[in-house]
Amino acid sequence: MKKFLVFCSFLSFIGFAIAQKATKAPSSPKLVVGVMVDQMRWDYIYRYQHRYGENGFKRILKEGFTCENTYISYAQTVTAAGHASVYTGSVPAINGIMGNDWYDRGKKKMVYCVEDDEVKIVGGVGNKEPMSPKNLISTTITDELELATNFRSKVVGVAIKDRGSILPAGHAGDAAYWYESSSGNFVTSTWYMKDLAPWAASFNQKKLVDSFYKRNWELSFPWETYVQSNINDPAYVKSPFPRKLEANIGKNYGAIASTPWGNTLSLEFSKSAVEGEKLGMDSITDFLAISLSSPDYIGHAFGPNAVEVEDNYIKLDRDLANFFEYLDKKLGKGNYLFFLTADHAVAHVPAFMTENKLPGKSMKANKRAETETMKKFGLTRLIEAQANYQFYLDRNYLDSIGADFENVKSYFIDQLKKDDDVLTAFDNDEISEANLPAEFKEMFQKGYNQKLAGDVQVIYKPNYFFGGATGTTHGSMYPYDSHIPLLWMGWGVNQGKSNRKVYMSDIASTIAAILKIQMPSGNVGSVIHEVVK
Ligand SMILES: [Zn+2]
Repeated sequence: MKKFLVFCSFLSFIGFAIAQKATKAPSSPKLVVGVMVDQMRWDYIYRYQHRYGENGFKRILKEGFTCENTYISYAQTVTAAGHASVYTGSVPAINGIMGNDWYDRGKKKMVYCVEDDEVKIVGGVGNKEPMSPKNLISTTITDELELATNFRSKVVGVAIKDRGSILPAGHAGDAAYWYESSSGNFVTSTWYMKDLAPWAASFNQKKLVDSFYKRNWELSFPWETYVQSNINDPAYVKSPFPRKLEANIGKNYGAIASTPWGNTLSLEFSKSAVEGEKLGMDSITDFLAISLSSPDYIGHAFGPNAVEVEDNYIKLDRDLANFFEYLDKKLGKGNYLFFLTADHAVAHVPAFMTENKLPGKSMKANKRAETETMKKFGLTRLIEAQANYQFYLDRNYLDSIGADFENVKSYFIDQLKKDDDVLTAFDNDEISEANLPAEFKEMFQKGYNQKLAGDVQVIYKPNYFFGGATGTTHGSMYPYDSHIPLLWMGWGVNQGKSNRKVYMSDIASTIAAILKIQMPSGNVGSVIHEVVK
């Protein structure tokens, strides 16, 4: 009997060992893959769901976790601020990325978020300005991964837009690659390397962009099936499908950015990065930070009610399915941590809103408040610069003529408030005094960077913005701009969904918790505990 028991326990030990071997998961994910969709509204997951296949968005919903109520926590809902917030777990007040651009009073010029004249472009024809993460003043989750592994992790950023690649790859990233429209090459800068990695150079040589142009932009389904979009009003139909792209071959390399092929090209380059840098091929976790820029270009041109946008998401869904299939084969299903979110969402086209008796307006420039203020105080000028709906008053000039700065400022604010299109305006030094609901006030506090901000903030009514009869934009505090998707799948992720309100700035903390590494230096977010296994 005793012998039999020993024999049984021996058998069960063998069985246990075999089971262990068969199911043994790595103790950390081989690779973290972050996909930022540049300009994705949360509702696109559901608006077009009947159009999606089983292996793209629907696979994430089935196998992974969705945070249905994810918001941007600061007011400037634009690309650079969004990428910086996701990866720093922080807000413009702390991480220094106050917008795509802001005004530098010292240098007396506008500053672009990732400009850096101390570096040089690598791998291109040099028509683009040199770029680096220099202006980002806190660490990123990718930096923290490098610190946690004594720089043994590999971190690569990929996007068509420079800022979409550079900010996520952080300061310590091995490389950030972005697309140079003049050459059709993915390029980088001397911040990361002296010469382009050989795999990237050979990818560029293939000029895949031309092979996509050859295939034009064909719709995925017949025109009349795009019932979620405006197929009847000729004002919104720019030109018939298929969109001819062949004429761009060999010359207009920038045109791909405004087509769904921009997503395909970025994901093909990402696969080359996995191969070339051997991402996820050893026991140390690597990070591939992808940003898909094309949805933003398409979205700006056509708006959320357009066939172009619907077709972009149908194609993106297929591209994602294809990318998951690649990662499953390469790294093993469940061995990588995947998340998808957006840097911001977008508003409906104002003219479309008006046409349908919905609130919204395409505004014209209005200098009334400025003119009135100048008249009142006998000024020859008042505003030095404008950015992110903020006015930088000409402090030096006002000083030089002995004007009472506080008086001038408060009169200007009162005048702005009188304009019909304006919801409210306030003094940036006294955001806490602004007459706004607490949630919105907090968004301005989190977006206010004391070193970089203007003096006066103006807020227009919902769905009011400057522009023409077509096209749309984002950048406001309103939920059509600030409500974004947040989807998780793979290593360390629970299956399920939550309707709890969480924020873009919680993403870095959650990744830090899953990877068991430190959160970034300016982190303000919290772990979304429902996501973590
Ligand atoms: Zn945009």
